Amino acid sequence: MAFEGLTGRLQNVFSKLRGKGKVSEEDVNEAMREVRLALLEADVNFKVVKEFVAKVKEKSIGKEVMDSFTPGMVIIDIVNKELTELMGGSQAKLAKSNKPPTVIMMAGLQGAGKTTTSGKLAKLLQKGNHRPLLVAGDIYRPAAIKQLQVLGEQIKVPVFSLGDQTSPVEIARQAVQHAKDNGLDYVIIDTAGRLHIDEELMEELKQIHNVVNPDEVLLVVDAMTGQDAVNVAESFNKQLELTGVVLTKLDGDSRGGAALSVKAVTGCPIKFAALGEKIDALEPFHPERMASRILG
Ligand code: GDP
Repeated sequence: MAFEGLTGRLQNVFSKLRGKGKVSEEDVNEAMREVRLALLEADVNFKVVKEFVAKVKEKSIGKEVMDSFTPGMVIIDIVNKELTELMGGSQAKLAKSNKPPTVIMMAGLQGAGKTTTSGKLAKLLQKGNHRPLLVAGDIYRPAAIKQLQVLGEQIKVPVFSLGDQTSPVEIARQAVQHAKDNGLDYVIIDTAGRLHIDEELMEELKQIHNVVNPDEVLLVVDAMTGQDAVNVAESFNKQLELTGVVLTKLDGDSRGGAALSVKAVTGCPIKFAALGEKIDALEPFHPERMASRILG
């Protein structure tokens, strides 16, 4: 289960509070010191931690909380609400164009899980009675096209490819036309990734963006990389105006730093979470459920 490290730490802090009939200001301060350390150890962004703890403290030290019958529980509830807020408050839904097809551009660094996530998203849409088209726009990584085609076959979703000799911009343009001509209502464009963010990558993504004018630009980031994932999101967002983030590999993320920081730092909502390699291991991201999961 994801975030077990953080969950364990927080449970320790809160079991002490929960046991108390009365909670003093010093008790709250002590608990918040521990929450702060737990969040920092989970690789949550430093500024985010600072603001989070200040907010929880401010709400917890009021007379209303202190005088309640179960102050410990009230404080846990405050933490739960603030964690939910930190991750976006409520579920951020996938866009749906009034004029189909809805075009989704997938972006991210190599290895983040972009191609796999494209397939998973197609499967999720298919389950919702949509007719998606997968587009093989990563022409540089050897085997990326084949990987998408195999995924497409597995879930019976068409894959649009023009091989690796046509430019990704042209592939994207023709793919959208193909979807229109064939009554397909979602187009998911898998784009190239690089090991690092570079000019060429961004330029190509911008060109595809200009040509297809996507309804969604989803950045796929590896949650296991913690603050690096947040930094990647910040850089992409400066150049591309992301509409959402997909966090992958949450199944292997015992810390939770990316999940808890990325919305607060970039302003981009987390739209999906990937929790495994299997094709159905993708789910819409629910901040309130994730907060409850973190608190255990
Ligand atoms: P891309 O270079 O961004 O297109 O990355 P891929 O889609 O090829 O994924 C890279 C690796 O990460 C593959 O081995 C995937 O199976 C794996 N992967 C992707 N998403 C997840 C996930 O949510 N959990 C786990 N455990 N592995 C994942």
